[in-house]
Amino acid sequence: MLALLIRAKGFEVRTTRWVMAAAVALLVVMVGSAARAEPDGRVFNIRVGQHPDKTRVVLDLSRDIDFFVFLLPDPYRIVVDLPELAFELPANARSRPVGRISGWRHGLFEQGTSRLVIDATEPMTVKAAFVLPPSGTQGHRLVLDLVDTDRPRFISASNQSVKKRVALRAPRLQEPPAASPPERTAGDRKVVVIDPGHGGVDPGALGPNQYEKAIVLATAKALKRELEKTGRYTVVMTRDRDIFVRLRERVAIARGSNADLFVSLHADTIDDRSLRGLSVYTLSETASDTEAELLATHANKSDIIAGMDFSNEPPEVTNILIDLAQRRTKNLSVRLAGYVVDEMERETKLLGRAHRFAGFAVLKAPDVPSILIELGFLSNKTDARTLSDPKHQARIAWGIARSIDRYFQGVQSAFR
Ligand SMILES: [Zn+2]
Repeated sequence: MLALLIRAKGFEVRTTRWVMAAAVALLVVMVGSAARAEPDGRVFNIRVGQHPDKTRVVLDLSRDIDFFVFLLPDPYRIVVDLPELAFELPANARSRPVGRISGWRHGLFEQGTSRLVIDATEPMTVKAAFVLPPSGTQGHRLVLDLVDTDRPRFISASNQSVKKRVALRAPRLQEPPAASPPERTAGDRKVVVIDPGHGGVDPGALGPNQYEKAIVLATAKALKRELEKTGRYTVVMTRDRDIFVRLRERVAIARGSNADLFVSLHADTIDDRSLRGLSVYTLSETASDTEAELLATHANKSDIIAGMDFSNEPPEVTNILIDLAQRRTKNLSVRLAGYVVDEMERETKLLGRAHRFAGFAVLKAPDVPSILIELGFLSNKTDARTLSDPKHQARIAWGIARSIDRYFQGVQSAFR
């Protein structure tokens, strides 16, 4: 059952009021607005309140907006896509459990779209969703009324809402990825793609002061500077700001740029707070140990965390792609990992068995040697402090750049 609330030019039409209690209300706003480069609206606050018959989520806004709500299962999520907005929330507007809601996250999903993801412990559906005009001291408010439901109803509502969302977004998906491929310069500049993990609505691991997404972006920028200084590399970033990029898109950027190398940067947290140090991963079908598997699961979850993956390729396709991966690509990845471990030993603390194998999705480009560097653990005090320190970031960047230099020297001599 689906109750549809259609809001157009300021008024709502309640088509099926009678199924309200049991159904999900999806708010479809198709009044398009041209894509804007900069956010021209702001979210001042996000408030969640428990009422006897519903859980109400309110966003305080600087202006009227169009939005789209959809549902995703496993884990249960209510996702709200908004125009690109600046979130200027007070310190007390923190994500915390209220009723079935376990928390919320927000961030830039892609150019032009901010996203709010509400996590629920049990199925919930949208009873109503609307924007209230200013009244009294209050400005524009986006109101979402969520009600408890059961899994079958949630799944059905989710399927319908996702179909709508895909249809609405289809034209956009035809556009090329945001990062434009580099112009192949004459000479023999190598193309290195640097992939700062997470971003936007997907913050990654949480350190004491900073999210993983910020730490890896800063380190990636330092690495870019270090590589460009040599004049030997063209550097492509999968993201150069706080924006969400799907895992497959990251791989696509590497392949589309004719990358010679792909380097993904992450930092994580782990229950054992004493554990610290850098490690380097290359692709394996099966993770080498449970710890590695946990990390891979965390990184691969990125798309799930942020919402939906529109490029749902069947597993067979993925497997064929992996099968096609040439031995050479794998060997080269392993060789680079070896150099990174060797160089980084001098620059920072390494994790035991610093070169590991895991099934990270971003390492699956069959023709681009790829490594993923876990810079350290944000759950460890020392790691968290050093990884946020620009001086240490520069040092890490220098070490990685040296390994990349050694790698290309080695590759050249091996194939000469
Ligand atoms: Zn990560």
